[in-house]
Amino acid sequence: MRSCSRCGAPLVPDAPRYYRLCLGCFKAQQKGEEAAIKRERDHWKRRYHEVAGMRSSAPAGIRQALAEAGFTEGAIKQMIILCHPDRHGNSQTANAITSMLLDLRRQLKK
Ligand SMILES: [Zn+2]
Repeated sequence: MRSCSRCGAPLVPDAPRYYRLCLGCFKAQQKGEEAAIKRERDHWKRRYHEVAGMRSSAPAGIRQALAEAGFTEGAIKQMIILCHPDRHGNSQTANAITSMLLDLRRQLKK
C-alpha cells in the first residue's frame, strides 16, 4: 500500500498514481504555499507603492521653483489645451509635449 510521503499515513487504495500526500498533508501544503505566495505578493505590492510614491510627487523645492517660473497648475492646464494634439493634426511634437505636460501636472498634483 502506498503511503503519504510527508506523514506516512496510508493513502486510500484508489488514490490516483500522482497523489503523494494524504488529504490532510495536501491541504496543509497548499495552505503553506498560499501563505508564501501572499507574502511574496504583499512584499512586491509594498515595494511598488514605495517606488511609485517616490516618482509620483516632485519635491517641494522643485514645485516651488516651477511655480516661481510660472509653471503653476493653472498655467500647465492652459499649455495642455494649447498643445493638444487635436489642435495640431495629431503631430508627433504635440503628442510628446502634451504627454510631458500631463506628466508634469500629475507630479504637481500629488
Ligand atoms: Zn500525510
